Amino acid sequence: MSTQAPARPLTMALSKGRIFEETLPLLAAAGVQVSEDPEKSRKLIIETSNPNLRLIIVRASDVPTYVEYGAADLGIAGKDVLIEHAASHPGGLYQPIDLNIARCRLAVAVRNGFDYPAAVRQGARLRVATKYVTAAREHFAAKGVYVDLIKLYGSMELAPLVGLADAIVDVVSTGNTLRANDLVAVEDIMPISSRLIVNRAALKTRQAELQPLLDAFESASR
Ligand code: AMP
Repeated sequence: MSTQAPARPLTMALSKGRIFEETLPLLAAAGVQVSEDPEKSRKLIIETSNPNLRLIIVRASDVPTYVEYGAADLGIAGKDVLIEHAASHPGGLYQPIDLNIARCRLAVAVRNGFDYPAAVRQGARLRVATKYVTAAREHFAAKGVYVDLIKLYGSMELAPLVGLADAIVDVVSTGNTLRANDLVAVEDIMPISSRLIVNRAALKTRQAELQPLLDAFESASR
């Protein structure tokens, strides 16, 4: 006799902040209300009005990992995060929809007054600090610029101010953070938005449950 595991609700991985806030209207379009605000509650598993859908709150850079290993069936992550994840886990995730939320851009920034065009022209070896080493490596390789990449996990804006790097590669939205730290964006690398990602096995085994959500997200994000 076969014993069936109890059905687990569909699990969606999200990060706090802008992605969570901008996902709420998409969930509402799918008829789903969320029971708690992760900014106020310390809960990491959040129930929704749909008994077959729960949310888990994880760090933005961990969303692809939860989805790839199947601990979450789906999730929402920025293109910046997905590029870095794909470098070490190629092809692991299905990315059906650009949700067009949490839009910003990946850019190169330097200290105000640093002559970036001259540094690049002279073939100098730039020191670049970033969390986004894959995207940065590809960008400078395509330009034929030699760079020493320094991996950081946050507060990239500090690096040029204290002599750790000549430039940073970071996501820029309003530009306020750069301005507040006397930095200027000198080059745009790519526009960034958040994408829906789906676990490849869940796509097959839980297709009937996933499809209405994917359809609602697709039409709400157009
Ligand atoms: P801003 O001051 O509006 O240009 O925002 C810049 C800072 O906010 C960056 O250093 C990022 O850490 C963060 N940020 C802004 N928008 C996003 C986004 N869509 N995804 C990830 N981080 C973001």
